[in-house]
Amino acid sequence: MKKMTNFLPLVEQFHSLQGEGYHAGKSAFFVRLAGCKVGCSWCDTKYSWEEKKYPSVSIEKIIDHIKIAREKGASFCVITGGEPLQHNLDNFCKAIKKMTMGEEQNSMKIHIETSGVNSISGSFDWITLSPKRHSPPKNYFLKNCNEIKIIINEIEDIEFAIQIKKETLKQYQLSKSKKGLKKEDKIFYLQPAWNNKNGFSLAIDFVKNNPDWKLSLQTHKYLKIR
Ligand code: SF4
Repeated sequence: MKKMTNFLPLVEQFHSLQGEGYHAGKSAFFVRLAGCKVGCSWCDTKYSWEEKKYPSVSIEKIIDHIKIAREKGASFCVITGGEPLQHNLDNFCKAIKKMTMGEEQNSMKIHIETSGVNSISGSFDWITLSPKRHSPPKNYFLKNCNEIKIIINEIEDIEFAIQIKKETLKQYQLSKSKKGLKKEDKIFYLQPAWNNKNGFSLAIDFVKNNPDWKLSLQTHKYLKIR
């Protein structure tokens, strides 16, 4: 069990547009936490792996920035990394909800992007699961995520995507929890790794022939925004 904490190692936080997945194109505030032990060779945020390189920032300070972004139009905050669930996010999520409760009692929505290798902590309005072939996710995330995003570099990633979808549907059927999302609510994405021509053609060909899947692109990289 990860220890409850009121401090988190912060790489960066910024207001931008969500570039990927179902919410692509929406105004969002990103909180990038440091620390990841998953070790993907193609990772585009390797700079975030080492937790000790970054300051430990109080959750209140982080939330002050979330509040400002919200006033300026951010419709949700995305907790990302690194692997954000390496940290216990219970206090952080509770504090976001409490400190952003407006007059209409609608607090800031919280999204998370995770590989699903750690246990869950915190509570989220949207879970993006990006499972990794060499380090498969916990069943909790297969059952409870809203979208699944598989990064495609090579043919083995397509095979992994097929297997993950099967496993997800099995977990859904096994799940006795009424709280879990309906299987038809889950969205399955293939996302070609940036700058990988093979990944792009594999993903496009697969999606063309498998309409249950959609293509996700890192639109923020085309737009040259963060
Ligand atoms: S899980 Fe995410 S942050 Fe960690 S190494 Fe893989 S791609 Fe990078």
